[in-house]
Amino acid sequence: MTTDHGHPAVRMYIAGEWCQGETGRTAPIVNPATEEVIGDVPLATTADLDRALDAAAQGFQVWRATPVTERTRILHTAADLIAERAAEIGRTATREQGKPLRESTGEARRTAATLRWHADDARRAYGRIIPTDPGTVLTVRREPIGPVAAFVPWNFPVGGPNRKISSALAAGCSLVIKASEETPASAMELVRCYADAGLPPGVLNLVFGEPAEVSEHLIASPVTRLVAFTGSVPVGKLLAARSGQVMKPSLMELGGHAPVIVCADADPVTAARTAARAKWANAGQVCTSPSRFLVHASLVEEFTAEFVKAAEAVTVGDGLDASTTMGPLANERRLKAMERLTADAVAHGAEIRTGGERLDRPGWFFAPTVITGVPEDAELLSEEPFGPLAPIVAFHDLDEALALANSLPYGLAAYGFTDSAATAERLSAELEAGILSVNHCGGSVHEAPSGGVKDSGYGREGGPEALDAYLITKRVSHLLVP
Ligand code: NAD
Repeated sequence: MTTDHGHPAVRMYIAGEWCQGETGRTAPIVNPATEEVIGDVPLATTADLDRALDAAAQGFQVWRATPVTERTRILHTAADLIAERAAEIGRTATREQGKPLRESTGEARRTAATLRWHADDARRAYGRIIPTDPGTVLTVRREPIGPVAAFVPWNFPVGGPNRKISSALAAGCSLVIKASEETPASAMELVRCYADAGLPPGVLNLVFGEPAEVSEHLIASPVTRLVAFTGSVPVGKLLAARSGQVMKPSLMELGGHAPVIVCADADPVTAARTAARAKWANAGQVCTSPSRFLVHASLVEEFTAEFVKAAEAVTVGDGLDASTTMGPLANERRLKAMERLTADAVAHGAEIRTGGERLDRPGWFFAPTVITGVPEDAELLSEEPFGPLAPIVAFHDLDEALALANSLPYGLAAYGFTDSAATAERLSAELEAGILSVNHCGGSVHEAPSGGVKDSGYGREGGPEALDAYLITKRVSHLLVP
């Protein structure tokens, strides 16, 4: 079923049924490229959430008892469906989030691949047998932690929810997931693939609602055993504190402010082209987006000139147009934030080299922006822009660059460009970050862990580590009766 705008009609998915919620309360879904309302999203009441919690409690008993081979088969079937439907899911994501079709369909395809990785990893959640006294068997078992309360944002409307869903289901957990009310149809179409693949009712429940109300209720419930959140640092701290009050573990994937260190021996043109490509992806709304460009003073002009060239080559437009290489910002809050951060940098004496303003057309479009001479006390150097702003700062020696890079409370992604193996090793050892890329701006890969240090959160998604948060470790010592 679709709305008058051809957008999927959004429903919640509770206990294996698509539903609208008890009161029929809704919020509008807006296309960021046109500012038109294209549908609405149902908002859960406490009674809806309680139904989802009951379903997850029962779904957990069913899913944990399902043979792992069968769980894996269902997850692979869901991955096949996601891959088959990637083009349509991508269109839905672009319509409600704004990113270019190439990025959104690519996200849907990667989602299928990530799910396959986790589906196979479900079969490797090994325990161990520990040598001990004769007559005793000492083992360590890994068991699913239980129903999960998950909360995901709007920047990866398909891949974001899937990271939580695929890890939890692979580990044998059930979930109640609240996806973003701003990109709900993408999450719904993802969940539909799992439902159509034969996932038993209650194992996966999708809700929307007033975020604070939903998280308070789901975290406080004794049904949920793990809180998994992706989003901003302030909200992450709030949810981690709430989880702590009820002694519930949490997985926190929060924001960063990724430094890019371009060393004196790097090629400034290659570094600028590579970093610029990563900068404009998803209009800079990626938690690992490069966001502070620390460039050796001897290279800074050449680097800036190439970066400006790359910015001016970007085609900003509606993500549904094939020629678009950067879409609008996903919501008006980000547009306002770009205007505020740019104005503050200029007030502190920075110079806009290109961009610096919203486009004169409907939609939340902001031009790719390069800013130089940004002093340390400008907000842009301490607040994650989460948008298409590239502040460039010159440094004179590596100690200074490392100190600047590590000076913020964040530690998610970091990037370095250098020709020297010794310098690369120093960056690897000394940058305070959970994810480091040298001489490229690599995105996340499902085979390897992603996650932060310091205020950027804790726990890892991707790689074999992804299942850790979703499994408990149980020691069993069995004295054999002679
Ligand atoms: P926000 O802090 O209002 O919300 C971030 C996410 O958390 C949203 O999905 C929101 O629905 C959810 N949320 C907010 N309050 C909540 C609560 N009490 N309980 C549960 N969920 C809650 O910020 P925003 O305006 O949506 O995004 C702006 C900032 O968020 C960005 O500057 C960026 O730092 C951060 N962000 C990070 C990521 C990431 O991948 N780490 C993704 C999106 C946004």
